[in-house]
Amino acid sequence: MSLKHECGLFGVLGSPDASGLAYLGLYSLQHRGQESSGIVTSDGECFHAHKALGLVNECFEDEILARLEGSLAIGHNRYSTTGSTRTSNIQPLVVDLKGKPLAIAHNGNLVNARELRVVMEKEGSIFQSTMDSEVFVHLMAKSKKDTVRAMIESAADGVRGAYCLLLMTVDSIIAVRDPNGFRPLCYGRKGDSIYFSSETCGLDVVDAKYEREIEPGEMVIARGGEIASERFAPPAKLSLCVFELIYFSRPDSLVFGVSVDEVRKAFGRRLAAEQPADADLVISVPDSSNAAALGYSMESGIPLEHGLIRNHYVGRTFIYPTRELRDHRVRIKYNPVRELLKDKRVVVVDDSIVRGTTSKKLMRMLRSAGVKEIHVRISSPPIRYPCFYGIDTPTRGELIAANCSIEEIRQYLEVDSLGYLSVEGLLESTGLPPDDFCVACFTGDYPVRFTSEPRKLALEQFDDWCV
Ligand code: SF4
Repeated sequence: MSLKHECGLFGVLGSPDASGLAYLGLYSLQHRGQESSGIVTSDGECFHAHKALGLVNECFEDEILARLEGSLAIGHNRYSTTGSTRTSNIQPLVVDLKGKPLAIAHNGNLVNARELRVVMEKEGSIFQSTMDSEVFVHLMAKSKKDTVRAMIESAADGVRGAYCLLLMTVDSIIAVRDPNGFRPLCYGRKGDSIYFSSETCGLDVVDAKYEREIEPGEMVIARGGEIASERFAPPAKLSLCVFELIYFSRPDSLVFGVSVDEVRKAFGRRLAAEQPADADLVISVPDSSNAAALGYSMESGIPLEHGLIRNHYVGRTFIYPTRELRDHRVRIKYNPVRELLKDKRVVVVDDSIVRGTTSKKLMRMLRSAGVKEIHVRISSPPIRYPCFYGIDTPTRGELIAANCSIEEIRQYLEVDSLGYLSVEGLLESTGLPPDDFCVACFTGDYPVRFTSEPRKLALEQFDDWCV
């Protein structure tokens, strides 16, 4: 899988160690964004902020965290889906809103941000970043309302797309989830402290007890140990991102109220029923496919083995200066257990195929380890369309399944068989109502329409989706 995660959000209210706890929360949400990280705290009167490019442990040191005083904090891990890699694009954004400080952190992608920005710039608005999240803040500033809550409502009225937001004033944290509910956001408590996190693994690391998800279209306001809730938008078509369950979220998290690990195992079971294989072993492409491979093994009765070992210490910043070294990228990350795989017929379970280039290298590596037969099984349907809701996907031209039949992909990978999980099988395995999910990257059925030119280009001939 080479899709990039979107972003991770974490918030703390009511702890003297807010910055340290935010650091821990972001650390456990590192998988959702590795480009930059930021924490903003409030001491009740003013904000303290630190933001930097890099992994969480590269961005913050003890003395930096000590300087971030206050009992409220919001933090953000970023992988850019809009806006370039530059320090002004690191979140949380801190702005002056009608004379009061406001910090905002966003996970998702507003599909009409570009158009709104063009209009606002013509009207004289000045933007400090290229992030679409800033558009939301400008809409709040343009609102004629005078409470932050009411300004959020006004801004939400103007935007479309995916947005989970944490907004912080000097004495409150407000969590907002878009009416379609694309991305997850939950909250929990420990004693008098309240915590917000994109996934429950963030609550676990600070020992907070999970209370519930923020509902789509809901705003949760935490102030002084109390929680208040209100709807800011009428119900819309629920569009939970199914890729959170396939790949993005950590398996130890509850997402959309279900266990990611359990659902991935169910994907694997269904995959084995839909796409059986005659083989000696099941192996996973670690780590995101481990649970699906276990499910496949349980359902098929074919033993599961650790046939590929992943090196967890591959530096994110490792530069591959020559083509030869670049070709070793897959080799640096994975290594086959030759003694186990030699002369075996192997089912290789992976969560998805995007461009196919990494998969091809992986399959060649397995062949060179002496595998006799390779049966690739994918625990999701073919990805045929790009995502516009906060996931960095290539254009249709680069997505292998948008351009090749399954048989052509099998030939390209040089494997003995290839099978994908069906859309129906995927949705039925979640245990949630199938209609509650977005599956646009498989079907092209986009739940929230868009207008901007780059998106038309990304869709190429499918621009009839653009209104
Ligand atoms: S298009 Fe795919 S990746 Fe994007 S929100 Fe929908 S299911 Fe998730």
